[in-house]
Amino acid sequence: MFSGRLVPIAAERANWGSKDHQLSPEEIILTVNAVAATSATDPLVRTTVERRDVGPRDVLIEIRYAGICHSDIHTVRGEWGKVPYPLTVGHEIVGVVTEVGASVTRHQTGDRVGVGCMVNSCRECDNCKAGQEQYCLTGNTGTYASVDRDGTVTQGGYSTHVVVDEDFVLRVPESIPYEKAAPLLCAGITTYSPLSHWKAGPGTKVAVVGMGGLGHMAVKIAAAMGADVTVLSQTLSKKDDGLAFGAESYYATSDKETFKTLANTFDLIVNTVSAPIDMAAYLGMLRLDGTFVSVGAPPEPLPVQVFSLFNNRRSFAGSSIGGIAETQEMLDFCAERGIASEVEVITADQVDEAYERVLKSDVRYRFVIDIDTLR
Ligand SMILES: [Zn+2]
Ligand SMILES: [Zn+2]
Repeated sequence: MFSGRLVPIAAERANWGSKDHQLSPEEIILTVNAVAATSATDPLVRTTVERRDVGPRDVLIEIRYAGICHSDIHTVRGEWGKVPYPLTVGHEIVGVVTEVGASVTRHQTGDRVGVGCMVNSCRECDNCKAGQEQYCLTGNTGTYASVDRDGTVTQGGYSTHVVVDEDFVLRVPESIPYEKAAPLLCAGITTYSPLSHWKAGPGTKVAVVGMGGLGHMAVKIAAAMGADVTVLSQTLSKKDDGLAFGAESYYATSDKETFKTLANTFDLIVNTVSAPIDMAAYLGMLRLDGTFVSVGAPPEPLPVQVFSLFNNRRSFAGSSIGGIAETQEMLDFCAERGIASEVEVITADQVDEAYERVLKSDVRYRFVIDIDTLR
């Protein structure tokens, strides 16, 4: 069961969870171990964070592993805007349910579960009603650095426990080991969603740009969907891995010939790279009605000559994570096809070092923190 400290909290501080959850003055919150950033430049520190008490619709999760996503690094270093320090990041969370609220129906104590990039949304807008909570028109509640409905800042998964509304908790199939499942909650769904939306499958040619945390999952998922997959990476250094993950071919983008050889080839190009790229060169590789979709987020605009879209009636699109139902579909798909993330497991004290290695692309292919090292 729960192993953190219990701390009394004033009733007026909170108005969280579902509308029927009335806090009593004796309401308690949970204080749990975590790793947090205190500034954009200082090393992460071991600390504690507070979790709300388990409301009627909440699930308490004892976290086992948390993946390290590039977004975590951008966020803690203040590259994506002002940061509410101290902040615990992490949105690739897997663990076991240790307590459920009275009205919870979707999960039980002992269940293997996961939490991805969001922990709530309005549930009432057109996009939420369409099951696309990631595009909630009032903004979804991010797993960290978002303002929750109780007015507090959400704290992520580099922590021993988290309390989440049952609707935003996913089932993690038995056949996927916890540590290999964690990155599916962000890297997995971020690549599955566009591959599914643009119908990667038998008879389609898909290119994946970049062979990092997102890219390696895009290759595995697209290949499992039956598409003919090509990896476009800066060098050929990960070629053997790419082919082992299911790619048919592998090209270096540092070689200009690549863009000539592959002109008018792909139905779909999934760009996982966050660096600026020559859009005209990439769009030129799309065949009739082909789409270039970016899931990587370069900080600068990517200029596009509209003429490069005219040929072959090309599209340039973006895609952000996936809805909750779709995330469950992705986890079940990965279990069925026997695919998961390639991970390097680290301790809670190795996160700073891991960040440096992620920035140098020196990871195969996702760092995952063993949260037992935080207990
Ligand atoms: Zn992420
Ligand atoms: Zn909404």
